[in-house]
Amino acid sequence: MTEEANLQSEFTGKLFLIVGPSGSGKGTVIEALKSHYPGFLYPVSYTTRDTREGEKEGEVYHFVSREEFERMIAEGELLEYATVHASDYYGTSKKEIIDALKGGAVVMREIDIQGFHSIEKIIPKENLVSIFMKVSDEDDLRGRILRRGELPEEEVERRMKSAKKEIAQADSCNYQVENVWGEIDTCVREVEKIILAEIEDLY
Ligand code: 5GP
Repeated sequence: MTEEANLQSEFTGKLFLIVGPSGSGKGTVIEALKSHYPGFLYPVSYTTRDTREGEKEGEVYHFVSREEFERMIAEGELLEYATVHASDYYGTSKKEIIDALKGGAVVMREIDIQGFHSIEKIIPKENLVSIFMKVSDEDDLRGRILRRGELPEEEVERRMKSAKKEIAQADSCNYQVENVWGEIDTCVREVEKIILAEIEDLY
C-alpha cells in the first residue's frame, strides 16, 4: 500500500465541500451550519486577498502575503490551492483537514471548483461529499454579485466568467441545491438534510 493509501484508510470522518459561484450563498450556509452545528469542524483557509470590511483574521481566512502563501505551497502545507477570479491565492491547510478526518470529525469548508477537483483526487469518495449551490439564472447571478458591494465593472465581469465556468461543472458534485433568491432558509434546510443523511453512518 502506498503511503497515501495507507493514510486514507485511517480516515473515519467526512469532509463536506460547499461549492458554487460567487454570491450563491455558500458563506451564508456555512454561517447557519456554524450556529446550528457547533460540533462540526470549520477549518480556516489561507488567502492572499485583502481583508473586507467586518472580516477578522482567523475567522474564515488567515490573510497572508503572497510570499508566505508561496512558502506554504513549497513546503507542502496545503491540501489544495487555487488562484480564484484570476487574482488571489486561496488554499486549505493539509494538516488541519487530514487530522480532523483521522479523528472522525465532520468537516465543512466552502471552496472553489478547482479546489474541489484537487481534493477529489486526494480524499477517498467515502470520506468526501460535495454540494453545489445553484442560482436561478444569469440575471440572478449578476444581481447577487452586484449586491455584494461596489465592484469595478471589470471585477464583476471576471466573477461572472468564473461563475459560468463553475456552473458548467456543477454535475461533478454529489448534490446540487438551488438557492432561490429570498429563500435562503429553505436552501439551508436542504443542505442540512443532505448532511444529516450523509453522517448517519458515522455514528
Ligand atoms: P471570497 O473571496 O469571496 O471569500 O471567496 C472567493 C472564492 O474562493 C469563493 O469561490 C470561495 O469558495 C473560494 N475559496 C474559499 N476558500 C477556499 C480555499 O481554501 N480553497 C479554494 N480553492 N477556494 C476557496
